[in-house]
Amino acid sequence: MINGSDPILLTPGPLTTSPATRQAMLRDWGSWDAAFNQMTNTICVDLLAIVSGQKDFVCVPMQGSGTFSVEAALGSLVPHEAVVLVPNNGAYCTRILKILGRLGVAAIELNLRDDEPASVERIEDMFLREPRITHVAQVHLETSAGLLNPLEDIAALCARFDKRLIVDAMSSLGALPIDVSKGGIDAVISASGKCLEGVPGMGFVIVRRSLLEASEGISRSLALDLHDQYAYMLKTSQWRFTPPTHVVAALRAALDQFIAEGGQAARGARYRGNCATLIDAMAVLGFKPFLDASVQAPVIVTFHAPRDPAYDFKRFYEAVREAGYVLYPGKLTEVETFRVGCIGAIDANEMHNAVAAIGRALNALHVRLAA
Ligand SMILES: *Cc1c(COP(=O)(O)O)cnc(C)c1O
Repeated sequence: MINGSDPILLTPGPLTTSPATRQAMLRDWGSWDAAFNQMTNTICVDLLAIVSGQKDFVCVPMQGSGTFSVEAALGSLVPHEAVVLVPNNGAYCTRILKILGRLGVAAIELNLRDDEPASVERIEDMFLREPRITHVAQVHLETSAGLLNPLEDIAALCARFDKRLIVDAMSSLGALPIDVSKGGIDAVISASGKCLEGVPGMGFVIVRRSLLEASEGISRSLALDLHDQYAYMLKTSQWRFTPPTHVVAALRAALDQFIAEGGQAARGARYRGNCATLIDAMAVLGFKPFLDASVQAPVIVTFHAPRDPAYDFKRFYEAVREAGYVLYPGKLTEVETFRVGCIGAIDANEMHNAVAAIGRALNALHVRLAA
């Protein structure tokens, strides 16, 4: 899996892709080409299968980074008079609140700490106190800290209270189980360049067919109109506007490898192995994860930064980058942290080597960790 002299990206998208995925980008496709449009179609079929959505859901691809698909879903599926509950435990939840603000849709924030998962009790309490809530926008895996929210329980609660549930599953889809056939979930959003190990450039929304069909005319954006995108694709089998052809081809190749690896269960197992290797090896150096093991998702790990005044993230980053590994800055406001991703076309060997590089970088910078 090692990629020659290219640096290994320990970041949660863009991430390290396999040579086969990069190889798939070496040819050009026309947007009218039937083979290209057939490729888009098979991608949608495979994506629906990953979340068991074959029966009642459709998959609508969308150009752009993941946020474009989040904004497309919220702007196209949530009526203007809706009231959306947003359990907030990180930057991606805050981004959803910002999008709703721009859309002029009323939102109610359930404020949580960065290390505190959304709980069914807290959400139920909000439903009882604020009966005007119609929708819940839930981030499945808050990538800011790497925190896992209990999606299955939240979906069951939303079904019981008859609230529409829109899930940002950007950094979980493909790695963690998501089953829309169990009910409660109305839409799931993810993108090409995260746990599916494609390259960045497109997202997709897997949405209950009846909900999408009823959403014509809601979107005030043309480019981000999910219903329009879907209707045009149904009619013509083409993307509505210029498709990200190379990204689509890379995602097709990445999905072939995903299926050959053994699908979500196998992908999740490899990431869990990467994550455990990372945390154990970092513990030997003296690093502690920010999150409790019970809420740590196997996708990205936030570590407390060394307290030593000799530590400076930029210099540390540069030294580790020099050794061939790209780390990620922290995204928490209260404590000094940095993050290490464990997703991408990498295995436990790369995690070991990355931690060895981190140890050497700290030595070179004369940074000590408190014992
Ligand atoms: C990556 C990510 C997004 C989308 O971010 P982009 O920078 O637009 O790709 C949204 N939500 C979560 C939870 C993410 O991890």
